[in-house]
Amino acid sequence: MQTPADLADALMRRIEESGPIPVADYMEAANGCYYAAHDPFGVKGDFITSPEISQMYGEMIGIWFADLSARSRAATVHYVELGPGRGTLAADALRAMGALGHHPDVHFVETSPVLRKLQKERLPDATWHDGIETLPTDAPLIIIANEFFDALPYRQYIKTYSGWRERMVGLGEDGFAPVPGATPAEDSVPEHLHDAIAGSIYETSPVGLAIANALAGRIARQGGALLVVDYGHENYDAGDTLQALNAHAYADVFSNPGANDLTAHVDFTALGQAGRLGGARIEGPVSQGYFLGTLGIAARASALGRHHPDRAEEIGAAYRRLTNEEEMGTLFRSMAMLNPKWPKAAGFDVIV
Ligand code: SAH
Repeated sequence: MQTPADLADALMRRIEESGPIPVADYMEAANGCYYAAHDPFGVKGDFITSPEISQMYGEMIGIWFADLSARSRAATVHYVELGPGRGTLAADALRAMGALGHHPDVHFVETSPVLRKLQKERLPDATWHDGIETLPTDAPLIIIANEFFDALPYRQYIKTYSGWRERMVGLGEDGFAPVPGATPAEDSVPEHLHDAIAGSIYETSPVGLAIANALAGRIARQGGALLVVDYGHENYDAGDTLQALNAHAYADVFSNPGANDLTAHVDFTALGQAGRLGGARIEGPVSQGYFLGTLGIAARASALGRHHPDRAEEIGAAYRRLTNEEEMGTLFRSMAMLNPKWPKAAGFDVIV
């Protein structure tokens, strides 16, 4: 297995031989190594995600899924998850769905061997896929993507005194360092940013947009929906959101590739547009706090607290962490792409 030290050596040799590499290539290599090698979640890991905070999160997704599936009147649907991590969300969602009489078969898109093994312990009967191309075509797909799109490779562009350039990773005095590319990149940056001040950064994830577009096409053809929950923004203009996390603290993006989790904010406007172009109807984004609130997380938290009085404080804390504005309630958003003929999904009816 490739260690971060092996990866750093390989990247350095590549840069010495053929020059700086795009930030996206660096991010792809770093995250490939990072996720292949270890389980990054939880208190002892580098970061914690909503399904790892509380079973209530996966249960709400399960209720959302069962409700949509029932109202679609499809005879069968497949449960699909992109980047299912430890399999916790799927286990909680499928348990909640089972209680409502829904037992879809399970398809996971996952590249990390270590995480596949953990997922298999939780959901032994799932089917694993390396990419979205092999997902079944015989029935509608309801697809869940929780903190998946933020981990895909992002391209970055930087405005220099000589115009826009792709942001690359080269070698500085003490290791990797960002440098502007040699060729003009005006064509890759929206026109209204062409006169931006020097130092401005524009980022985009072509891989993420291509996946959203392809899945929207599948949904338009065979029925179904894609639920994206992630941290990100709408109406993104410019700005650098690439970050590295290690042991719950920010680390330097350009140090120790493969040892930290590299992510960037999801551009929900662009993702929605990619889905619309693929033929899907878009609902949201709404804040995670609003989405979970509409699905009934407050009632679930009270019921759980009553059943487990010894854990009532912990359950209350998890509820607040998932829904409070200052915590994950606002930065995290939820957006759905649906087959245009499918009914409205729960959780997106914003009352004004
Ligand atoms: N959904 C989980 C895990 C989020 S972390 C949770 O919320 O807890 C990102 C997940 O995406 C991991 O499972 C990682 O291995 C997977 N992943 C990252 N890049 C991927 C890619 N290109 N294809 C498939 N899975 C990928």
